Amino acid sequence: MYKEIRKPIDYREHVGVSSFTYNSAIPYGEGVSELVDSTILTPAFAEVKSRYGISVNRLNWGEVPASDEKTPYFLLGPINPLLLKDEDKDYIEKLAQVPNAKVNIVTAFPYGMFGDTRDYRQRAESDIPKFDQKLGVNSIFADTTDALYHGIRTVSARDVADNIVCETIRVKYNPIRDKSLRSALEYQQFNHSQEIEQVRAIIEQRRLWHRAPTDGAIVIKVPEGYLVSQTHTDKTNMDSANFSLVSQTKSVDNEVVYEGDKLPSSDSPEFLVAANCLFGSDLPVIGIHYHYNPITRGGHFPEMVTSQVIEYGRFESAEPIQQEFMRRYGQGLEETVLERNGAWLILREHGVIWFGQSVEQFDRFVLKIEEEIAN
Ligand SMILES: [Zn+2]
Repeated sequence: MYKEIRKPIDYREHVGVSSFTYNSAIPYGEGVSELVDSTILTPAFAEVKSRYGISVNRLNWGEVPASDEKTPYFLLGPINPLLLKDEDKDYIEKLAQVPNAKVNIVTAFPYGMFGDTRDYRQRAESDIPKFDQKLGVNSIFADTTDALYHGIRTVSARDVADNIVCETIRVKYNPIRDKSLRSALEYQQFNHSQEIEQVRAIIEQRRLWHRAPTDGAIVIKVPEGYLVSQTHTDKTNMDSANFSLVSQTKSVDNEVVYEGDKLPSSDSPEFLVAANCLFGSDLPVIGIHYHYNPITRGGHFPEMVTSQVIEYGRFESAEPIQQEFMRRYGQGLEETVLERNGAWLILREHGVIWFGQSVEQFDRFVLKIEEEIAN
């Protein structure tokens, strides 16, 4: 069959990312901002520059740049959102109101501020999302204990780099659109519309997201490849039109061949390659990935947490995901996916990845997990 495959494009040119701005401010004592700058931000900026060509420019605190047609991205921090002064909140809100702007906050907390880690988790899960919503920003969750000996809990360089990519170019792969897949895409969208509606309803009812319902990804195996939710799809307000068809993943060239109106999920490389390697080609598989703090950070399922942080969106990450599944399920994996409540694990500091065969299984899985957390 003749396939019209367009030449790989550099997606970055088409997104219109403008300069990144960075501010180191408030409200810490001497040296903390400099420390976060040198040990976390500077390495993160170097990484996004060398891997993705993204440059970061500094912005003075209080300054609002003139808006242009591109997407401005602002990274602020280190900041403790719970201690901000009103004038600083006003400034952050102004940045968030720049047309199309994305604002990320590198959170940092003095260790011991919350008494124990449980208090910290509760404050972080209730107060910070409220702060984010009010100001229209996204705070990067302070997960790492790397900086603890300096008396602060903050984010890692990897988190910062990932958030920069996620909020701007979004995907780390090179997308190649293949329009000859159009009729297959439309047929499979029609075929799976009911399942997609069922997943949507579960995500909405159970509130399976952390920052926003655009988190996460859904992949459904079809004869031509996979139906994959598109980047930035609101999972509580989606239908099959929000899915693209991925026919091929090429790790060597870092390419994802797809058809659809929008790019398939940024998680496509690792999830699709892992699914392909884990499950026989005739096994129908649905993969659902979501962010849910009570599971990811609640400490209820230590045996399900991956031993390492696995970077999202890269082909290299498929292998550790496969190994983690095999370590837990071994030869019983296909049976678990076919007959039980599906196979799953917790991507450390990230979220849940679940594979099964039907949405009914996923529903049972979510209920079972909820029960276990409640007990
Ligand atoms: Zn994710």
